[in-house]
Amino acid sequence: MAYLTRDQYLQQLAERSNGKSQQRQYVSYFGLKDDGDEAVVRFAYSDPSQFDVYTVHPVTVDGKFRKVNCLRGFHDPVEKCPLCEAGEPVQNKIYIKLIKYERAEDGSTINIVPCVWERPASYITILNNLFSEYGDISDCVFKIRRSGERGSLQTTYSIMFANPSVYNSQLYKKDFSAFEDYNVLGTAVLDKSYKEIVTEILGGECDDTDEDEQPLVSVPKDETPSSGPKRITY
Ligand SMILES: [Zn+2]
Repeated sequence: MAYLTRDQYLQQLAERSNGKSQQRQYVSYFGLKDDGDEAVVRFAYSDPSQFDVYTVHPVTVDGKFRKVNCLRGFHDPVEKCPLCEAGEPVQNKIYIKLIKYERAEDGSTINIVPCVWERPASYITILNNLFSEYGDISDCVFKIRRSGERGSLQTTYSIMFANPSVYNSQLYKKDFSAFEDYNVLGTAVLDKSYKEIVTEILGGECDDTDEDEQPLVSVPKDETPSSGPKRITY
């Protein structure tokens, strides 16, 4: 972090002194690169009400392909979100929290890698089906297998129940502690204010004299958004 407010700095110092920051594990993006690749995982949900679903805009921020939270509620007019107003596409995504199990190089232990898996919101149905079949899925181990060559738009994933006598919970531990302080919003999905979207993403200007009122906005609408999404993947 390049810039810290005084309070953030003091908080970081406090966390460092009680060892919290050393213990905290980074949550990475889950992905399988090639056809036939597999991973052994455990989903961090004991109830479907805990799913993390967001409406997002795929945009380029600082040269990186990112997702930004859409500011509009279901019944809000288009003006509520500058990216909607600029005609940027929206996607409904689920961010699936899971732990991936990786065998240590010497084969003796199974390491836990906390991950978030971005999928179309239609995966809610797939996860709901797992709940119907297996009950609390946080008690189960699953295998995810990719079918589809690298870059293929027809890529699918199958999620298979893993036999508990092979993938037993003594070795494949149920440990979701990495997600205790984790929030999808602000990490996998950028949490930008109206003003930040206008100035940082759309390159416009925003009058910030009164934060509570609808800001006066100047967005270069006559320009084709060259910084828009290059591709949309599901
Ligand atoms: Zn929007």
